[in-house]
Order: sequence, then C-alpha cells, then structure tokens
Amino acid sequence: MAMMRSDLGIMKILRLKKRGCFLLKLLCLVVLALIFCEFLVYYVVIFQCHWPEVKIEAHRSSKQSSASVLKAMFLSDTHLLGEIKGHWLDKLRREWQMERAFQTALSLLEPDIVFILGDVFDEGKWSSSQAWADDVRRFQKMFRHPVRTELMVVVGNHDIGFHYEMTTYKLKRFAKVFNFTSGKLITRKGVNFVMVNSVALEGDGCTVCSRAEAKLMKLSHKLNCSQQQEQNHSNKRCSGVEQLPASEPILLQHYPLYRRSDAECTGEDSALPEEKNIPFKEKYDVLSREASQKLLWWFHPRLILSGHTHSACEVLHNGKIPEISVPSFSWRNRNNPSFIMGSITPTDFSLYKCFLPLESRVVTIYCIAGALLGVLILAHLQLLNPPFYFAQHLIRKHKAV
Ligand SMILES: [Zn+2]
Repeated sequence: MAMMRSDLGIMKILRLKKRGCFLLKLLCLVVLALIFCEFLVYYVVIFQCHWPEVKIEAHRSSKQSSASVLKAMFLSDTHLLGEIKGHWLDKLRREWQMERAFQTALSLLEPDIVFILGDVFDEGKWSSSQAWADDVRRFQKMFRHPVRTELMVVVGNHDIGFHYEMTTYKLKRFAKVFNFTSGKLITRKGVNFVMVNSVALEGDGCTVCSRAEAKLMKLSHKLNCSQQQEQNHSNKRCSGVEQLPASEPILLQHYPLYRRSDAECTGEDSALPEEKNIPFKEKYDVLSREASQKLLWWFHPRLILSGHTHSACEVLHNGKIPEISVPSFSWRNRNNPSFIMGSITPTDFSLYKCFLPLESRVVTIYCIAGALLGVLILAHLQLLNPPFYFAQHLIRKHKAV
C-alpha cells in the first residue's frame, strides 16, 4: 500500500516536471521571437548598410582624406504621435521601432551629423504646451545621441502648422528646443549646409515669411562672397563679410522644390502607382514655383534634400541640380522606411539609402512563431497525434471491439 502511494507521488512529480519543461520551452520560443523582432533584426538589417565611397582630392594623404569626409545621415517625417490623434498602442509601437532603428544606426554607423528634415511631431501644429513638452521629452529620449554626433532638425508643417496656422509662438517653442527658426547655415569639415524654413516661403510678406526671406538672403550673400573671395574677385559689398569655405551649399528643407507630381519618380519606395499622377498643390505639397526659383538663384546648391511626401524621388532641377526626397522614417507611413547616408567633401558627395526592416517581414516572423507555439501546445495536449500513434490507437480500439 505504502509502495503504491510513493509510486503515485513519483509519477505526480514526473508529470509536473514534464509540464514545467514544456512551459519553459514555450516561454523560450516567445522570448526568442521577441528578442529577434524587437532588437536583433535592426542590427541584422542596418549592419548591411555602408558609407558610400567618395572621390577625394588627390593632394590629400589617405589619413587626412578619411578624416576630411563628413559622414551625414538624413531622415525625415518621424511624426511622433500626439495626444489627440495618437492611439497609445500605435504610439508605443512606432516610437519603439524608431528608437531602436536610430540607436542601432548610431552605434553601427557612427555618423558625424544627423539631419531630420521636418515633421518631427505629428501634432506640433496644435498641441497644448503640456502636450508639446511631453512630445519633446519623448523625442529627446528616442533620438538621444553621443557628443561626437550632432543632431540638427529642420522645421516642418506638422511642427508649427501650415502657413495659415503658423504663429510666432509655435515657431518660438520649436526654436527653443531645436535652435532653428528662419534659416541656418552650418559648416562642417568644409561642407556648407543651408537649413531652410520652407513653411515660411509662402511669399505673401507675412512677418515670419519676410523674416525668413531676409535671413536666407543674408546667408546667400555670405556664401556668394566667400566664393568670390576664393576666386580673388574683389567686391565692395563683400568687405567685412565672414569668410566661409568656398563650397556650394547643400539645401535641407521640409517641402520639396516645385514639381508637378511624383509621376517621374521610380524605385521601390516611390509613391504608389495610383498616387503618382495626382498633381501637387503649390505651397501645400511642394514649394511654389517662385519660391523654388528663388532658392535656386540665391544658393546655387549642389544638392537638395527634402521630406514631406513620405515617398522617395530623385529630381534634377535645371538639368543639373539633384533633389532627393527622403521617405518617412516611421513604419506608420511606410512598410519600408529608410534613411540616407551621405559621404560628403567640400567638392563631392556620394549617397546611399539604408533600408530598415520591413514591417511585413517582422509580422511574418511573429506569425510563424505563433503557429509554432500553437502546434507545440496542440502536440502537448496530444490532439496532434503523429500518424503512427494514431494508427496504433485505432488498432487498439478495434481489438477492444
Ligand atoms: Zn509635412
């Protein structure tokens, strides 16, 4: 009797052990899927991206030359969701994805400088001061960066509103965080970047608009004088103007320069075929023809990078000036977000697009893990008997009859 009781006890312990082991297996599967899809996948995908090669002036030594190439990263339209339109789960997911992508890119690629081309926030155009403070806090956490990497932000219509809803108050609170209002010139390693407030290029003489135009004209004067001084052209109007590297600038702005539509855009991340032929509205989808022409006259840029459309495009202005539309960095807007990596010298540049993990692929991995989990549970409950055991079970049943 005592023997039977101890046998029963051992069997109970064995059964419990088996169940514990099974639960551990399930937990391992779930944890592995999570670790891969939420951390490792960013490393696996971004590890394949590389800084493009760029021609370097022949007289520089190789050590000097590698140090003289500026490694710049460009991304756009992060659209951090606000308190009014953003669902908490959507917010959590998108912000986690962008934070992981950005932090992984920083640690693997070590850029010198990162530019975000506007629409950092989704509801900066109408958010209360409290909501704005909360959005800024989350932005600073997501896009934290080491001292060796600079982060520069261009203003977009979702940050301060379209022209008709843009106010000095909204512009000031943006400027307080990002130190940017009308226009800004940044020179790094001999490369000049002009950051433009394209929302203020309405051309109607509004206070913010005229301030922005005046600032841009001043910057254009400075750049043109530097180029003339380099070529030894003396110009009275340039006396006393601070001398900058005589390199043609790179324009960074939120709205693209005027183009009729995205019909000519190609590539896997260009606009959808049904959207490509929809004509763009000036001062809404793209800058007006007049403002676009002004920017080209003032700056003679060698490259333009812009955002706003959420899709990719490459346009050639006046037959020689390339403009790159940088797609959205958020998975909320695309299945295949990306950022641009630029190796830039004062005389040349080379660009490379780094794609981030596809949302659909991550979902597929989760589905496979879920299916595997289901099969394991069913097998454990012996609802999924292998054919051999199934046949054996049938024979036994037959014999019994
Ligand atoms: Zn926009």
